[in-house]
Amino acid sequence: MIEVLKTFVCPNCGSGKRIIDGIKDEEVASGKVDKELVVGSAVRHLAVFDPKKASGLLRCPVIVIVQDICAECGTEYICYIGKTEGRPQIGPPPGMPPGQGINLPPGFPMGRG
Ligand SMILES: [Zn+2]
Repeated sequence: MIEVLKTFVCPNCGSGKRIIDGIKDEEVASGKVDKELVVGSAVRHLAVFDPKKASGLLRCPVIVIVQDICAECGTEYICYIGKTEGRPQIGPPPGMPPGQGINLPPGFPMGRG
């Protein structure tokens, strides 16, 4: 469950209509995807944790930044920023292309298994 912290409309034309979100709505209506699914042209997850403190590795706040494309003028923009809770992960979560996962800071000790 994502708590939405801030939403934005298109900075170019002021429309709130989004292309990918619109496609999702059609899929939700036909029952193929869940309403809670987060979609966009780019979805970034940023874990806020201190690698030196073990407690932060179990549960930590995760900021979710969602970009989409304006259905009116085609501008790509950040449409909302949300917050959830999760665990820092090595590599991208399942189903997410490489490079869009939670990135660990340089020098973070990597496990061997
Ligand atoms: Zn626009």
